[in-house]
Amino acid sequence: MYPVMLDVNGRSCLVVGGGGVALRKALGLVDEGARVTVVAPEVVEPLDAMAAAGRLVVERREYRPGEAESFILVIAATDDRRVNRQVFQDADGAGVWVNVADDPELCSFHLPARVRRGPLQLTVSSAGRAPFVARRLRQLFDRRLGFEWSEWIEAAARFRGRLLELDLSPSDREALFDRFFSATVDEDGLRVRVPTAAEETGWLGAPVDHLEGEEDATDRPETCRDDARHDVLVSLVGAGPGCPGLLTTRGRQRLMEADAVVYDRLAAAALPCDLPAGVELHAVGKVAGNHPIPQEEINALLVRLARQGKRVVRLKGGDPYVFGRGGEEAEVLDAEGIAFDVVPGVTSGVAAMAWAGIPVTHRREAVRLTLLTAHEAIKDGGQQVRWDLLAQDEHATIVGYMGVTALPDVVRRLVAAGMDPDTPAAMVEQGTTAAQKSVVSTVADLPQSVVEAGLEPPALFVIGPTVRHSKQLDWYSRQPLSGVRLVVPADATPVVRRLEAAGADVVAVPFPVTPAARIVIATLPLSGCVVTTPADVDWMDDERGGATWAEDCPAWCIGDDTAKRARERGWRRVRMLGRGTECGELVARISDARR
Ligand code: SAH
Repeated sequence: MYPVMLDVNGRSCLVVGGGGVALRKALGLVDEGARVTVVAPEVVEPLDAMAAAGRLVVERREYRPGEAESFILVIAATDDRRVNRQVFQDADGAGVWVNVADDPELCSFHLPARVRRGPLQLTVSSAGRAPFVARRLRQLFDRRLGFEWSEWIEAAARFRGRLLELDLSPSDREALFDRFFSATVDEDGLRVRVPTAAEETGWLGAPVDHLEGEEDATDRPETCRDDARHDVLVSLVGAGPGCPGLLTTRGRQRLMEADAVVYDRLAAAALPCDLPAGVELHAVGKVAGNHPIPQEEINALLVRLARQGKRVVRLKGGDPYVFGRGGEEAEVLDAEGIAFDVVPGVTSGVAAMAWAGIPVTHRREAVRLTLLTAHEAIKDGGQQVRWDLLAQDEHATIVGYMGVTALPDVVRRLVAAGMDPDTPAAMVEQGTTAAQKSVVSTVADLPQSVVEAGLEPPALFVIGPTVRHSKQLDWYSRQPLSGVRLVVPADATPVVRRLEAAGADVVAVPFPVTPAARIVIATLPLSGCVVTTPADVDWMDDERGGATWAEDCPAWCIGDDTAKRARERGWRRVRMLGRGTECGELVARISDARR
């Protein structure tokens, strides 16, 4: 197999077939500017829509023998092998490149799996011998390569442009390319950063006066000039505690208008799955397996993006100003003269308690609420929490953030300062998500109960009289689908609504699957997926096998044809429900399967 990148822009390509696979191939070609003709007696709705929008041509009829010859590239994806073979023979005989989906024998070229970051493309091929490996590697790199790679590749191209203008020997040039690479690429972490204008200038060693002018031009915040001084460039948005529905309406609005989103791990689940595919997504904060990015780098990223004139959303778990270092980020933006606003979020200390049946205040029982960071309890000196005062206050609730490791110290300090050891207390892990776990105990026994229950961060503790209500007010785990997390096609609206109403965490994915939806899918383990058409199966097939998606995750298929396609694709645990099944029946089946 010989790898090439084809420039299909403006060239004529043919897609034979009108189903989900054909749609996907056609989209890939149209995205690169190809002039695409789709031939099929029937086509799926999105193909019609694209034809109506003039993005491609649909000819609703059978394939005519010989017609493949007048294109430069042909893809066949019909479910009739005779037609596929005919297309292959016509094209191949005329020297036209041809690919028949899922039929390596009828292909003169294969399509590699690819990861894309701006003009940078990473393609993976097993020469058709083990496509499952290519798919998994694609997923792996898609997770590992952040969106800063798009920005970085553009910077690299600019740097090259500047460098080529200088009159340098080939070996000097190479040395400078090495310089750029080693200074901006973290090879172990697979991360990159965009160099500052001053750094580039230093490397190029160009005359200072000439470059100063240029630096000025690139660094000036374009949209912050007098005429647009009040345009907000950065929004600090609270993502809520984890349940996607707890993102505020304004928060969603800011996200949908953003050019770039800089998000924390705890905020990822709240990304709207329908976030446009072009929005830059920058993961910062603790990401599994990676070191957290230092706060200074996050600040610099926000400033840099805003200076490029982009609308930026800084998405933070819970509320941005509750133990989220949102205040520091706002100060940096202000100091840099960048207009910002704040969209508060639902803080986890209140929401996770509501999900666990604990009202944080209650008339006559608790008339004061303290939110504290438990880290204070493990500091050697300079403690800023008055444990003695908190311990004396019976009619109050204490909620502790970042409290798993520090819990024994907190308890020791409170009990030593006179708190009743029998005061009710609880800990809630991953509150408001399908992975929520909690234990209820007394303050003295809570550390032990937490260890026994195996609770881990992110978790909050709560101490106070209102914890008593947790059993009576535990509305969440009474729902038929509490603890269930499902991927569902976004356009199956009634199904999405019904499953959510039954307490499920529903990831409603649009097709084609957006980068944001991929991130959301990867935040927590899934309990299954629901598919309602064979085309859904084709779209979803590419996503299966990701880290949170166990291979034996059940697939709830509506309709014989859908289930048949899922089996053809090799899905395990295919569960069929007849078309016209009531949503309530689906809820019952999923709920039963869980027990
Ligand atoms: N700004 C956030 C808090 C950030 S500090 C907010 O307002 O919620 C991070 C801590 O928040 C975690 O260590 C944990 O104690 C808590 N936390 C965040 N989300 C949580 C959740 N869903 N369940 C339990 N604790 C959570």
